Amino acid sequence: MAAIDTQNDESNIDNISLIESWQQVGKHVAQACAQAKRQTDEVTLLAVSKTKPAEMIATLVRQGQRDFGENYLQEALEKIQVLRGHPECEHIVWHYIGSIQRNKTRDIAEHFDWVQTLEREIIAKRLNEQRPAELQRLNVLIQVNIDNEDSKSGCLPAELPELITAIKHYERLQLRGLMIIPSKANTDAFARTKQLFEDIKIEHPELQKWDTLSMGMSDDMSAAIANGSTMVRVGTAIFGSRV
Ligand SMILES: *Cc1c(COP(=O)(O)O)cnc(C)c1O
Repeated sequence: MAAIDTQNDESNIDNISLIESWQQVGKHVAQACAQAKRQTDEVTLLAVSKTKPAEMIATLVRQGQRDFGENYLQEALEKIQVLRGHPECEHIVWHYIGSIQRNKTRDIAEHFDWVQTLEREIIAKRLNEQRPAELQRLNVLIQVNIDNEDSKSGCLPAELPELITAIKHYERLQLRGLMIIPSKANTDAFARTKQLFEDIKIEHPELQKWDTLSMGMSDDMSAAIANGSTMVRVGTAIFGSRV
């Protein structure tokens, strides 16, 4: 495929540093797991590839990276399209981690494996209706505004019970857990979210795949892992800064 060209020297040098950064992050995750007395395979590394080209994604796929997160729908759809024809990229698991407007739900339902940013029932309803029958259920995480910030998306903790009760009946969705982006200032957000996650597990034994707690990014992945994260979403530490 012409779009994935690793033949020229310049892109080979870029590839080497990309692979090294990715390996470093993998080590970092493994160390954090060891420190927390957890198994490394309890934590999934989600590579957040927003603003980065499909070539970089393909490079990491060849190294064994499987999960990728995207925030901007048009950009994501283009990359998914480019990589789809590429045999080794067939097994990429795509996570939508951007904000969801109503008019975007069909594309998300048709092209992604996970949505981590669900916060309203109307969006869940649309995703459920629009998820194609031939695909597996769409995995969803509810985004929680754990620090009650005006600027942040996500539902408030108090709104969770109602949202869970609504979403669990949707047959084309699979409710997997919670996702947060904590405010920097608030250091116990990870522990509070872990508690919420465990409380819901006890209150809702019917949620058979309630197994994912998505928290931790480039700067705070160790703390998140120490507090029970099962998925860290890492962009900058793998791909470099975004312009
Ligand atoms: C961009 C983004 C990330 C990755 O952030 P880094 O600090 O670059 O690791 C993680 N989660 C969400 C929701 C994002 O939008």
